[in-house]
Amino acid sequence: TGTRSYTAQELFDGLKAGDTIDLARAITLIESNNHNQQEQAQALIQKCITTEHNSIRIGITGVPGVGKSTFIETFGMHLIQKGHKVAVLAVDPTSSVTKGSILGDKTRMEQLAKAKNAFIRPSPANDSLGGVTKKTKESILLCETAGYDIILVETVGVGQSETAVHGMVDFFLLLKLAGAGDELQGIKRGIMEMADGLVITKADGDNLNMVSTAMNSFKRALHLYPPKANGWSPKVLSCSALEKTGIQEIAKLIFDYVLFTKENNSFFAKRIDQNKEWFLSTVKNNILDSILLKPDNQKRIAKYLNQIDNNKIAPYSAAIELVKQISYTP
Ligand code: GDP
Repeated sequence: TGTRSYTAQELFDGLKAGDTIDLARAITLIESNNHNQQEQAQALIQKCITTEHNSIRIGITGVPGVGKSTFIETFGMHLIQKGHKVAVLAVDPTSSVTKGSILGDKTRMEQLAKAKNAFIRPSPANDSLGGVTKKTKESILLCETAGYDIILVETVGVGQSETAVHGMVDFFLLLKLAGAGDELQGIKRGIMEMADGLVITKADGDNLNMVSTAMNSFKRALHLYPPKANGWSPKVLSCSALEKTGIQEIAKLIFDYVLFTKENNSFFAKRIDQNKEWFLSTVKNNILDSILLKPDNQKRIAKYLNQIDNNKIAPYSAAIELVKQISYTP
């Protein structure tokens, strides 16, 4: 509390001691847009990146209503009972983690929110996807430094955030509803392709028949994709987060995946690849911003946007013309 700011070293020591107040402070620090705070934040991240982390980063996605928050509550409690420390982060403002915090809805992840070995942090608000994902990626490191060995990153099954989350986790879990009519068509192909595991939710009561039909068609659909570069074939499971069935099997699937990828040396290689990709995309975005946000280039862009508005120029031609005129010196 208060307005005093904390140094990178103070926060790092706090994290190493597993202090959740310092963890919350550290995340607030990296979320800050203040220049001095950003310098402290980078110093802190630098310390965290060089410490060894034996964690599992799990991305969880699915459309609103699929049962993400109910699943995270049950799954998270299961892992805590097995002795793990679980951190839950969200990437989009519409995720169930954030929904809960905005609405002050105490029933969401009620048990997990109270559990000693759980840490729940909503998505940073009012920011671009790029900004939010940067902060989430760094928050993962902070949570790991604070001793959380299971990191759940939640995203809603719409928009570009899946790709961003896929680029920061070890295992990508796709939650699906049975009988939603999208088993074979209408499924977002890209998202199916990213999944390491697919879980049909709400496998209870009258749903059970539909669930087994859905499992079969998803298994067939997954067969159509080329095998993953790391040799893993995605699996299809089902669960009921309400009745707490199928939960242990999902945990086992993820632990099997970690064993499998550690044995064939792809586990840490994937993290390194993700870091390289992250580095390159940050460089690209910063260069793009530094060019496109220059006032003379902004004027040029405005001029062409106006012409497109009035149907005076084809967008492609406008783009080519503009690129020729643009000044690239920062
Ligand atoms: P989210 O929007 O993806 O976070 O979904 P929620 O977790 O909020 O769940 C949406 C609705 O589905 C709620 O009414 C839940 O009670 C219900 N639900 C969630 N999990 C289950 C389940 O395992 N079985 C059944 N029958 N309903 C569930």
